[in-house]
Amino acid sequence: MKLNELKGVSDKRLQALNQYGIHSPEDLINFFPRRLIDRSRVSPIAVLSGFGDAVTVIGNVISIEVVGYRNKKRLEVTIEDDSGRLKGVWFKGVSYFQKFFKKGQLVAFYGTVKQYGRYLTIAHPDTEKLSDSSDIHKVANIVPVYPGSTFFKKTYITSPLIQGWIKQILQSTRIKEFLPSYLLQKYHLPDRDSAYKMIHTPTDTKNFYAALYRFKFEELFLFQLSMAKLKQRIKLRHTGIIFEQLGEYTHRFFNEVIPFTLTEGQKQSLSAIKKDVRSGKQMNRLIQGDVGAGKTVVAIGAMLMALDNGYQASFMAPTEILAEQHYRTLNEYLKPLNINVRLLTGNQKTTLRRDILTDIQSGGCQIVVGTHAIIQKEVQFAKLGLAVIDEQHRFGVLQRANLLEKGDYPHILVMSATPIPRSLAMTLYGDLDVSLIKGLPAGRKPIKTAVRGEKSREKVYRFLQEILADGGQAYIVYPLVEESEALDLKDATMGYEHIQKRFPGYSVGLLHGRMKSEDKDEVMRAFINNDLQILVSTTVIEVGVDVPNASVMIIEHAERFGLSQLHQLRGRIGRGPRQSFCILMTDVKQSKEAKIRLKTMAESNDGFKIAEVDLKLRGPGDFLGTKQSGLPDFKVADILQDQELLIKAKDEATTLIKKDPDLEQPDQEALRRVFVPYFKEKARFYNIT
Ligand code: ADP
Ligand code: MG
Repeated sequence: MKLNELKGVSDKRLQALNQYGIHSPEDLINFFPRRLIDRSRVSPIAVLSGFGDAVTVIGNVISIEVVGYRNKKRLEVTIEDDSGRLKGVWFKGVSYFQKFFKKGQLVAFYGTVKQYGRYLTIAHPDTEKLSDSSDIHKVANIVPVYPGSTFFKKTYITSPLIQGWIKQILQSTRIKEFLPSYLLQKYHLPDRDSAYKMIHTPTDTKNFYAALYRFKFEELFLFQLSMAKLKQRIKLRHTGIIFEQLGEYTHRFFNEVIPFTLTEGQKQSLSAIKKDVRSGKQMNRLIQGDVGAGKTVVAIGAMLMALDNGYQASFMAPTEILAEQHYRTLNEYLKPLNINVRLLTGNQKTTLRRDILTDIQSGGCQIVVGTHAIIQKEVQFAKLGLAVIDEQHRFGVLQRANLLEKGDYPHILVMSATPIPRSLAMTLYGDLDVSLIKGLPAGRKPIKTAVRGEKSREKVYRFLQEILADGGQAYIVYPLVEESEALDLKDATMGYEHIQKRFPGYSVGLLHGRMKSEDKDEVMRAFINNDLQILVSTTVIEVGVDVPNASVMIIEHAERFGLSQLHQLRGRIGRGPRQSFCILMTDVKQSKEAKIRLKTMAESNDGFKIAEVDLKLRGPGDFLGTKQSGLPDFKVADILQDQELLIKAKDEATTLIKKDPDLEQPDQEALRRVFVPYFKEKARFYNIT
């Protein structure tokens, strides 16, 4: 069967379906309704409350009236049943519906009831003419609502039409089951054929959700099967390198180098790591902690444990800028210990690169800081013992697999300021232990955050003036949007000139992504040394910069930033004894989302709370960087809401793959047929063969 063989599929409609990504009957039956309208309960008019219930009512038309003035005409159609009267009101399509109704006719209205004065009304009800009251099943049913209504409008493809086509398909085909029957029984899942019928032609809401549950399970199960398979290939090993004892590096770092005592969270994380690296099992640990919680110190401690035992360590960051900043930080900390730290990125000159690679291969280089460049084939370690990954959500399974191959299954430490739920972490990383660094180092004053408009700019500047007069320093940040880098650069440059004029007694610096890294370093160093009091910059300062005396951050066009990004930026201040202030400047009309972002920032300093809001605003795909992380965009399952099911699917998949790695048992025949192509696609995606 082909799509255009279905009744009512014209060329135009076929084209629209194709444009929407529906090319075959199979695509069409997998086009699921987004929600249900339950019209199965018909209410007598008298019992309606007028408090916004969606209902079906049936009655005879007793009047059809056009009321109001020329441009504000509306149609009011009053119907009556045994118990009372109700008005349907149309503001659009007045003349069409005026002709549609006839006095005395029996009709059904479906919609949300509101009370206006004495009248119960439904604005723009869904309407159906009935021949007699036994005709009621025509309207009083459960109606699936398909997505894409705006898209399909021009070709008049409506939900009932789609439902009709799918009915035709489902009547002429029997859909084969592929889930093992023991799973259907265990989780009370409807079989595949019934599930398709239940989801497209639901007879009650319970059925619909049972079918949806089945499809979610199916989707998550296939995904987890592929993860189990991949893991088998990656062969997560259960034996690991042992770091016998801590030595001089570690001792000196904690006793001589760092000028502070560790927080409880840092101590706990470090002792968990210590235990892991001595256990004889390969460590896979995630350290979660808010911006400024002091994760870097923990990572350094862990790397020094490797160095103390004659191993190398690597530190991988998601961007070049971050890698450079970490490199700077690490060098600062580790200079007194005479440790050879090197930076490896994708943009280095060939001679320098060759030199670094040789240094890594010979073991002269003890710590490599870098970007994805670290996992390239040419990079060969003499003896990699520990790999640190910063900001883990941008790295996925593949990167970790590649890291494991860089050494003899080195320990892995993942650091994140983003609180991803544990089940998700497990899905992304397999078996991952989690340490949480709660709270911030002692003595930090919570940052005060305010949202200000253009009107208040002068006031903001006067405030800044006071802080500067008191010996403070400030960041002024401009957004950087990749597509219009030039424009933003202009913004920052103009801002820089403007600020120089406005604050003549102080030195102002400019920092942006297009500068050479030496120049960036120079500006940063000047700011750190307080040779510059104001640093105008694009978002290049996002993470890693540490200037405790800087206590003010003014963020321009704040509405353009993402929530997590704003929080990251703000994390640059509040690092010293001064009370810190973050001022979010915004003058344009904001979208609803932007308003929520700014309000959230003003109200909270808690990174986990902020991440939660961000996750809600953006959805898991965007938030976690689906593309980079290899996390699939599920069609029916919601990776956050369906966590419980995700775990069940994972357990079942793992058990099955252990028992029957290639699904060769005769009763897995159907599953194998579906899974093999699915997995091929996945493996290609992960670049694993
Ligand atoms: P994160 O990477 O978690 O955002 P960092 O590791 O960059 O945080 O640490 C933030 C700042 O706090 C740095 O200046 C660091 O030197 C400092 N710091 C870390 N641990 C402590 C501590 N226990 N007490 C005081 N300051 C600390
Ligand atoms: Mg950090």
